Amino acid sequence: MAFCANSVSHGDNMEKKRVDGLATLLIVACVAVVTVLIVSDVVSGKREYEKTVLAMDTVVTAKVKGSDAQQAAESICSRIEELESSSYSAYKENSDVYKINNADSSAAEIGASTESCISSAYKVCEASDGAFDITLGTLTKLWGFGNGEEKVPSQSDIDNALQNIGYKKLTLNGHFVTLADGAQLDLGAVGKGAACDEIKLLADEYKLDRAVVSVGGSILLYGDGEFTVGVRDPFGETEDCVGTLTLEACCVSTSGNYERYFTENGVRYHHILDPRTGYPADSGLASVTVVSESGIYSDALSTACFVIGYEKSLELLDEFNAEAVFVTEDGEINVTEGLRGSFEAGSGA
Ligand code: AMP
Ligand code: MG
Repeated sequence: MAFCANSVSHGDNMEKKRVDGLATLLIVACVAVVTVLIVSDVVSGKREYEKTVLAMDTVVTAKVKGSDAQQAAESICSRIEELESSSYSAYKENSDVYKINNADSSAAEIGASTESCISSAYKVCEASDGAFDITLGTLTKLWGFGNGEEKVPSQSDIDNALQNIGYKKLTLNGHFVTLADGAQLDLGAVGKGAACDEIKLLADEYKLDRAVVSVGGSILLYGDGEFTVGVRDPFGETEDCVGTLTLEACCVSTSGNYERYFTENGVRYHHILDPRTGYPADSGLASVTVVSESGIYSDALSTACFVIGYEKSLELLDEFNAEAVFVTEDGEINVTEGLRGSFEAGSGA
């Protein structure tokens, strides 16, 4: 036994030395390969880089591949921060939205990004017959969404706020916007998607090979080839999916009742409001994911579809050449025709 044991033990040491030697060789080989890759990366100027920041009241992640990847990712994040403070924030004093909301019914001069965003959003207000309405700022503030003071407002306050909503109260005249007295602009439903469109231009400037930039519920997929995007399970945890979409370059936006909500007296109230009732939209949907070439339209349409429900959304989506995945409150999944070949149901995202 002892002999065997020693023998075995001796053999073990030999084997261990051989394995150690192999491991060293492998490490050296790997280091060499990695070094070659890094060197060839540096030589060709191709690199990958990922950066995450908090902006637009959400998490922004830029994953980019191409020349100057680090600089590109940093520029992307800075641009989103800048868009928040100069254009879309309702709370930052230098933003266009703040200026418009505090102009006392006189014309406010705005930048090109805000102009383009309002102009596109307005088309969705019209097409949805006001179910989507960017002048509902008084109502969102009343519910406390965006300022952290969520509460169910009194019916009389809701009735008063409803008097101040109506996209026709807004006039866009070139670089100038006028809002009728009492109305308040809220670009919360479109700013993130509009940012994706701006980032697409930046990605062009940097000649990126590929980029995936997520701005909260809106994602820009940029570059050649396919991308796989998980459609979140509205009833599960953040990482749970009801299925995956395999897509080429485009924008994807999701509106869901799980994104922002509070509970009062056992009732859950979410942040997507119906401007016709003044209450959270109740169209039988738990989430809508819209796929479009355009970031702003994917974002505006996902909110609009959430308000009007599955059936009515089909025509609206057609009008803007967009496709969608709907998850109903009963857990049913409906996929528009143009996406059926791209969607795979299941949690294995
Ligand atoms: P999203 O997550 O893109 O659906 O946008 C939701 C945000 O849009 C809310 O937090 C509000 O600021 C704003 N919003 C809510 N309801 C509407 C609506 N019916 N039309 C336009 N904007 C809305
Ligand atoms: Mg939206």
